[in-house]
Amino acid sequence: MDLHYARKPRHKTIWKEIIGLSVLALVHAPLFLVAPVFYGTLLLLLVRYFYIHKKSHLNVGWAKQNVPWHWDHHMGKNQDANWGVTTDMWDLIMKTRIKHLEDLKNEEK
Ligand SMILES: [Zn+2]
Repeated sequence: MDLHYARKPRHKTIWKEIIGLSVLALVHAPLFLVAPVFYGTLLLLLVRYFYIHKKSHLNVGWAKQNVPWHWDHHMGKNQDANWGVTTDMWDLIMKTRIKHLEDLKNEEK
């Protein structure tokens, strides 16, 4: 469990994440005028990102089951890999996906 997400007041790294996501929302805000569905979807995905990231840090078992690529990022041998939080799609495309958890499961068999 990552206590940075559990403590109040929030740790500075959590604030950096919240501010970064908020800036992303603000920068894209003018798009609401021409593409409101796109902008609404962007806001939902930003909230979804924060929720999944927070949950994966508070519940390691949940992260192993639901976002193994993010578990690999923090718990694997190479933290310069597995950058995706909600999906490993870009890691697969950019060849930065290293399946540490999967290797551990295979070693246990
Ligand atoms: Zn993380």
